Parts: sequence; C-alpha cells; structure tokens
Amino acid sequence: MQVKAQTDEGRNMIGLKGKNALITGATSGIGQAIAVRLAQEGCNIAINYRKDPEGGVDTEEMAMQKACGNIENCGVKSLLVQGDVSQESDIIEMVNAVVDEFGSVDILVNNAGIQTESSSHEVTTADFDQVIAVNLRGAYLCARETIKHLLSQNRSGVIINVSSVHEIIPRPMYISYSISKGGMENLTKSLALEYANRSIRVNAIGPGATITPINQDWTDNPEKKAIVESHIPMGRAGTSEEMAAVVAFLASDEAAYITGQTLFVDGGLTLYADFREAWSA
Ligand code: NAD
Repeated sequence: MQVKAQTDEGRNMIGLKGKNALITGATSGIGQAIAVRLAQEGCNIAINYRKDPEGGVDTEEMAMQKACGNIENCGVKSLLVQGDVSQESDIIEMVNAVVDEFGSVDILVNNAGIQTESSSHEVTTADFDQVIAVNLRGAYLCARETIKHLLSQNRSGVIINVSSVHEIIPRPMYISYSISKGGMENLTKSLALEYANRSIRVNAIGPGATITPINQDWTDNPEKKAIVESHIPMGRAGTSEEMAAVVAFLASDEAAYITGQTLFVDGGLTLYADFREAWSA
C-alpha cells in the first residue's frame, strides 16, 4: 500500500506573508518547488540561478501563477539573481542585490547542491573541492552574509539548509557528497547555537530519495526506480513539493521554537527498512 501526500491548498502558514526569501539553486527540483511554495505563502522570492536564466524565468512564472493566479500586483515580488555559490564574490553580490531590491533577506534557503560518483580512492582533488565548495562552503558563506545583514539591521531571520539523509547515512561512491552533508549537520547546529539569542533560527531538512533532475539516472528507469523504492519503508520516492512544504513550515512562525534541527523528510528511510524484521537474536 502506498500512502499519498495530502494537500490542503488555500491554507497559509503563520508569519510568512511579506517575508523576503532567497533560495539558492532555485531553477529546478527541490529549490524550484521551495520558491513556488514560499511565493504561494506570500513571500517575496529571490530565485538564484548559476547559469540557467530560462530555468529562473520558469520558476518565476510558476511561482507567480501559484501565488497570484491571474491577478497582477498581488503583493508578491520576485527577483532573479545570478550567482555561483562556490564563489565568495558572487555570494556577497547576491545577498546585496536581494537587500537592495527587497530591503532584507528574512529567509535564506541553502538548496544548491551537486554530487559526483566515483570510488573514494579515485576521486580527484578538484572534484572533491568542487562538491565541498558548492554544498558546504557555499551554504556557510550564504549564511555568513545573511547573518551579517540580519545583525546589522537587528532583524530576526531564518536559515534552512537542504541537507540529505546522507547527513547521517554513509554513502559509498559519493564521498565528497557524504562529507558535505555530514558537515551540514554541524553547520546547522553551530550557527543555531551561536545565534539563538539573536532571533536567528537555523534548521535543515534531510530529504530522502526525491524525484528531481539530480536523480534522473534512476527516476527515468522503472527497474532502477523499483530498486530504490524497495529500500524506502513508505514504498515510494518523495516529491519536491513534499520537501518544500517542510521548508515552508520551518521558515514560518509555526516553527518559532525550533532551531538546530534536521527534519528528515524521507518516507522512513532513516529508520533503515532492512531492519524491519530482526535478523539476529
Ligand atoms: P537539482 O539538480 O534539480 O538541483 C540542484 C540545483 O543546484 C540546480 O538548480 C543547480 O543549478 C544548482 N546549483 C548547482 N551548483 C550550483 C552553484 N555552484 N551555484 C548555484 N546553484 C548551483 O537537484 P535537487 O534534487 O533538487 O537538489 C537540491 C538539493 O537537495 C541539493 O542540495 C541536494 O543535495 C539535496 N537533496 C536531494 C535529494 C534527492 O533525492 N533529489 C536527496 C537529498 C538531498
């Protein structure tokens, strides 16, 4: 039996309307769904893209359609911001551009991520550095610039890191990815602790297997998809929209007392399905 996600369109989460959100890597997959959902919740959205302005425009159109229907000037604003999160100068310019346009960054979603597959003993230093530079250092630098801005304006804010179940599940053949997501746990906790008394909450989501372009290798192949899904207690991969819903919750005032946590959104993957039946006394 498969349990389907339930949606209840029309209800909004408390405290999101009018907030300014910056989402990195927002032109596809989970990032795109987060941008659309936050716009739907009434946030102004800054859509970061690295080199795909068309993807940015698509995200913007989808978000505005969801947020406003056909009403022009419904109160939700959007901004496309180019920037490579592995480049410090791009990040500084990106955060400044959002502050210039919207007045603040109230919500930062560190979503941009990449992965490369290789035996750990064969990973090149350049590939290793690139994955860490995007997934971990990029997330930190985006957080650093956003926190500087929030403190300078004495504003409260929310940072949400898009981590992974591989924050805690080791992932052979993807050593740099595993390390980056493991590091994200401590990034989340350390920043949460340091800025808890400055009204800045820092949390993460840990997606399980999710149907997005990063997983095209198995999502487009029914046999491989069945193998992946056989390891998931709920029996199916997740959707980007299911990830976005949890980000919206963590960004909202409904999660006002939550900081330093990773919320796994994984259909039970981190419960380790293979242990469903005891295989030792
Ligand atoms: P995706 O490939 O659709 O999204 C990744 C996004 O990051 C893309 O829009 C890409 O352009 C952007 N990006 C890559 N390098 C960048 C850079 N240097 N600067 C700015 N943007 C950059 O895949 P996705 O599944 O939506 O991944 C989003 C996040 O979710 C990633 O952090 C990924 O690790 C995480 N995640 C995904 C899954 C899954 O099963 N899909 C599971 C766990 C975690």
